[in-house]
Amino acid sequence: MTNKSAIVVGAGFGGLYMLHLLRANGYHVQGFERGDDVGGTWYWNRYPGCRCDVESMEYSYQFADDLQQQWDWSERYSAQPEILRYANHVADRYELRGLIRFEATVTAATYDAQRKRWDVEINGDDTACADYLIMATGCLSAANIPDFLGLADFQGNTYHTGQWPKDGVDFTGRRVGIIGTGSSGIQSIPLIAEQAEHLTVFQRTPNYSVPAQNKPLETAFVEDVKANYDDFRARNKAIPPAFGADFPRHFDSALDATPEEREARFEEHWRYGGFAFLAAFADIGLNMDANWHAAEFVRNKIRAIVKDSNRAELLCPDTVIGCKRLCADTGYFETYNRDNVSLVDVSTNPIEKITTQGLVTGGVSFEFDDIVFATGFDAMTGALLRANIRGTSGVELKDKWREGPRTYMGLMTEGFPNLFTITGPGSPSVLANMITGVEHHAEYIIDLLNWMQAAGHETVEAERDAEDEWVELVNLRSQATLFPRCNSWYLGANVPGKPRVFMPFLGFPDYCAKLDGIRDAGYAGLSFA
Ligand code: NAP
Repeated sequence: MTNKSAIVVGAGFGGLYMLHLLRANGYHVQGFERGDDVGGTWYWNRYPGCRCDVESMEYSYQFADDLQQQWDWSERYSAQPEILRYANHVADRYELRGLIRFEATVTAATYDAQRKRWDVEINGDDTACADYLIMATGCLSAANIPDFLGLADFQGNTYHTGQWPKDGVDFTGRRVGIIGTGSSGIQSIPLIAEQAEHLTVFQRTPNYSVPAQNKPLETAFVEDVKANYDDFRARNKAIPPAFGADFPRHFDSALDATPEEREARFEEHWRYGGFAFLAAFADIGLNMDANWHAAEFVRNKIRAIVKDSNRAELLCPDTVIGCKRLCADTGYFETYNRDNVSLVDVSTNPIEKITTQGLVTGGVSFEFDDIVFATGFDAMTGALLRANIRGTSGVELKDKWREGPRTYMGLMTEGFPNLFTITGPGSPSVLANMITGVEHHAEYIIDLLNWMQAAGHETVEAERDAEDEWVELVNLRSQATLFPRCNSWYLGANVPGKPRVFMPFLGFPDYCAKLDGIRDAGYAGLSFA
């Protein structure tokens, strides 16, 4: 038992596990959560079709064998309600709910250097304090609704996919407009189209999508994984994204194959479904020519699926495939063969304004009962900066990160002692299996805190030089790939004015090795007092 205390912000998978570990290690702990229940991403994203793009047997906690043995997933890719049930199960099983105050948004957090503690403001009118502040606020939790002219004038209903009403939405008989064709748009469009009288999709940039090939999980497969779960987890953790170890995976170049061989390989991976498509050749993410072949294969699929050739061309992306997160869909391109679906290109004629009845683009007015914003998130930094965090000498995180996020290990930032960011910028986070990532971070944090107790240290802070080197390393790793070659949210490019900096650390195993090395060197790059 220690007399140290911690505040954990967020009750998604990261926050839940962090709370569990802190309590088990004897810390006084309080959790604060904006929503009225646990689940994080899976609490907020209830839009029709919402489903994970990492396979169910991998997208779960691995810290407790009885938990992973006893929980049963029903489909290859779990739908949102099932993942939310799982989060609730974990919260109940480990009796975590009592540690969490719900409907409690952290509106400010200030480090008191004299008392060596964090003072946290909740909902603008209440306070709490603790020795450690752990932000488990998620990477894709700050909804981005573009600042459209006239937004408040619309008299119908508006929805953001990441803030979907708990009771769902019935679009039957309604004229619906949807803005955005990222993963959320691509998953929801087929289902909204089935319900709505008419659905109009406003597309700024077409996106690559591969069929998820979702299906019920087969008992024999589940039994096989469960019989060797440790090995399955270890194999996944040993590869860069920390998932997909059993994908068909090839290590040759797309440029060495004949056209027939390439076509056959891509076809095999298309049929397998999801992210495995990018594992068809070793150099799809590294070489522009190899990438073009993969992209052209998908474009040809779109041309074959979508009957109207003009519409098909409009849906064909001409960017680098895999540079933005590849989407995994169920019947997305097929939806454009429906009579009740229109596609409007807003790449050259941006949405001019929202009106009382709908919106205007290219001088043309559209009328709707409902508008859906599938416009994404202020990713990775949004939720942290919205919490108004101030470090030593009153420095604001948003000022420190004005030119882009600066962290050491994606976990700490200089000038903000005893502040930890679970899956923060500079860690693999969104480019790895998120549950594996949050578990790794929560365990690293608890080990560090326990080590500090044993050594008699009260505070820990990243050193400026170590942080500078880390930022440089994250940047260099991305430059060896094709990731910087498009306008993705990994780079902050989806939010006007956000600095263009590649935020995730590429490669989970290398990342873990680095962090182990830092720990083994007595937490090099961190200073203690
Ligand atoms: P997103 O990928 O950022 O897509 C946002 C969409 O909105 C883009 O098509 C974007 O166009 C468009 N948009 C934004 N501002 C616009 C404007 N002013 N006018 C017109 N269009 C505009 O967001 P998301 O679809 O919510 O997905 C975000 C991430 O969440 C995913 O990449 C994924 O990591 C995660 N996610 C995962 C799943 C899953 O597991 N299957 C499902 C949903 C989300 P541009 O491309 O031109 O910017």
